Amino acid sequence: MTASDDIRVRLGAEAVINLTGTLTTLGGISARPEAIAAAAEILGRGVDIVGLQAAASRAIAEVMETEAGFVSACSAAGICMAIAGAMTGDRMAAIERLPDTTGMKNEVVVQVGHLVNYGHPIEQDVRLTGARVVPFGAVNSATQSQLEGAIGPNTAAALYVVSHHCAPDGQLPIADFVRVCHARGVPVIVDLAAEYDIHSYLRAGADITIHSAHKFLGGATAGVVAGRKELVRAAFLQGYGIGRPMKVGKEGIAAAIVALRAFAAGDRAAERAALLVPLNHWRVALENVAGIATDLDPDPTGNPFDRLRITVLPDAGFDAVDVVHALEVGTPPIRVRTHQLSHGSFILDARSLGAGELQPVTERLLAAIEQARRSRAEGRTDDVQAWKVKHAAALRNWPDLNAEVVQ
Ligand SMILES: *Cc1c(COP(=O)(O)O)cnc(C)c1O
Repeated sequence: MTASDDIRVRLGAEAVINLTGTLTTLGGISARPEAIAAAAEILGRGVDIVGLQAAASRAIAEVMETEAGFVSACSAAGICMAIAGAMTGDRMAAIERLPDTTGMKNEVVVQVGHLVNYGHPIEQDVRLTGARVVPFGAVNSATQSQLEGAIGPNTAAALYVVSHHCAPDGQLPIADFVRVCHARGVPVIVDLAAEYDIHSYLRAGADITIHSAHKFLGGATAGVVAGRKELVRAAFLQGYGIGRPMKVGKEGIAAAIVALRAFAAGDRAAERAALLVPLNHWRVALENVAGIATDLDPDPTGNPFDRLRITVLPDAGFDAVDVVHALEVGTPPIRVRTHQLSHGSFILDARSLGAGELQPVTERLLAAIEQARRSRAEGRTDDVQAWKVKHAAALRNWPDLNAEVVQ
């Protein structure tokens, strides 16, 4: 153990700089100070969880202008519990019987373009409960009549996903989705894990919405489940069934309540402007670097903030993946958003940028680009595929993270 004022180092982990924003694999967003204080304060106290969750329900109902809510372990848990609740209602015998769905409606309709992988396949959240996904439409088109056709006597719920992971075009808008489902008595569950919009889907008729507390809200790891009281209660009661291994702690509940209130009171325009400061700083620093172009990248699903896209131009002599690799293996390690690597770009999200990290990032960016240029000039080759293989191998070798890659 090293004497350090950084808990990550004291515990033997790496002090990584998180430029992915809110990625769960980096522990989510750096939490708000008031949420951190709430978690720390309640950790030392005993509290009746059912009562604390009832308080959470009142806070969620007030802030999100809906009937009820509770705090789940995370959004994935919230999705599972909401779907399970749609199947069981408040019948304890049914709750304890899952994932055996005998005697229950057990189908969940989802448009194909919403069957995303956000770290694991969302379809697995449905199957975990014992339900099965009934997909409709195609990756680039889904229609009301296809949704009507997918709904049948065994339909328990309909799942709708809002995310940059979803197919971009041709998906059914929420208003049409809700209208078709409600005409057939099917509740609509909306996964909004990373979406700042905490009101309009409920206003559009969603029966349950699910947001992550450790993403834009700035809480500890948790999920916020909100909506119609009867369905929220049925989802909450899964804590006495399949939800038990998904249990949220008192610190997650307390931090989520405080974070939700702080988020609701926040000034989105001022926050957006503040986030532009580091992005513009890096833009200026990279302005005259050969082979590099930068763009401000407004959030693709319309959330009120921007990121910085860094593109390695085709004639640069090196690839974006080389730069990302140099950023990751250097000191301090820097993690960026990589889902556009195959388009020659990587993306910086400043929402979790820590105090004192702005200048180190600038320096490491410039150094990583030059390192990429040099190692290519020296004939080393790397590509996106090799990058993926390396990452997959690192997981298979866990906990021996530095083991030789054996293929
Ligand atoms: C992050 C994410 C999830 C999972 O959220 P957790 O709270 O980490 O479980 C689910 N759906 C979407 C669309 C996400 O972006």
